[in-house]
Amino acid sequence: MKLEGLCVISGPMYAGKTSALVNLASLARAERLVGVRCFVPHTDTRSAKMLRSHDGRTTEATSFSDPSEIRQLLAPTDTHVLIDEVQFSLPSLAAEVGRMLADGKIVVAAGLDMDYLRVPFATTSALVAMSSNSVILVARCSVCGGMALYSYRKQLAAQSRADRVVVGGKEMYEARCGVCWDRGMASQRAAL
Ligand SMILES: [Zn+2]
Repeated sequence: MKLEGLCVISGPMYAGKTSALVNLASLARAERLVGVRCFVPHTDTRSAKMLRSHDGRTTEATSFSDPSEIRQLLAPTDTHVLIDEVQFSLPSLAAEVGRMLADGKIVVAAGLDMDYLRVPFATTSALVAMSSNSVILVARCSVCGGMALYSYRKQLAAQSRADRVVVGGKEMYEARCGVCWDRGMASQRAAL
């Protein structure tokens, strides 16, 4: 993937999206010619002020509440802006990214494309639409080992659209293929 304009890395949980950002950050920093800043919405309690991949590697990040804070925090020498967990940010992030691109920044955004009910996240969709490059990463289905495109929440009892951004790890979410996602949802719904 060539780094220019806006690149979006999306997919389900456990697909390696944050790992890809952590890799990019360390590669870009090793170049020493580029200024790299990483950001993450503050609702992502998993990583606090670090980008932490599920495989345990980290890179420094700054948390933000409103997308407009990002540009205020950027120095002219910051050429690369990496933003993780974009699905947790307001849709106005898309307009802010547009301003960063106009400023000449290279932006790489990563996040979930869909929630655990397979409903697209508005912020991720908006960024994909305006991207010059986008890639969908896949995970391994936790049931059959096949190619997983979906995030699956293990306990559905308290489900509502309001809690679609509940942050959790492997105790709460799995990656599943379409067939295993359908089967799991059907059996959970039958048990409700
Ligand atoms: Zn499966």
